[in-house]
Amino acid sequence: MTECLFCKIIEKKIPAKIAYEDDKVLAFHDISPKAPVHILIIPKKHISAVNELTDQDGEIIGYLHLIAKKLAKENKIDKSGFRLVINNGPDAGQAVGHIHLHVLGGRKLQWPPG
Ligand code: 5GP
Ligand code: ZN
Repeated sequence: MTECLFCKIIEKKIPAKIAYEDDKVLAFHDISPKAPVHILIIPKKHISAVNELTDQDGEIIGYLHLIAKKLAKENKIDKSGFRLVINNGPDAGQAVGHIHLHVLGGRKLQWPPG
């Protein structure tokens, strides 16, 4: 059995508030939201980090962004603005070893990030 938290969410062994799902990706609301809208979009294929991407992963990484665009519109942050983030490794604070695209919006976001 997988020890990956997000693979367990994909397998529905751990509950999550799902925002979107198809055969390639799952999107769910972050358990500890850092903005009024905070959704995580993950590939169903386990990829641990940007560091581990291969040439075969270009399509799925692009697809995560298309789902981000759709969810931004559905959550009414497309006009006000939103941020897409993928943390990679310790300095970026990556806490879960299954690549995930954060969609953050619904408030004015600071730049540069902390
Ligand atoms: P990272 O810091 O790795 O880029 O982001 C991991 C994110 O996953 C964090 O924002 C954290 O709040 C979220 N998270 C961690 N565990 C769970 C969980 O069990 N369920 C959900 N929905 N989000 C989680
Ligand atoms: Zn995983």
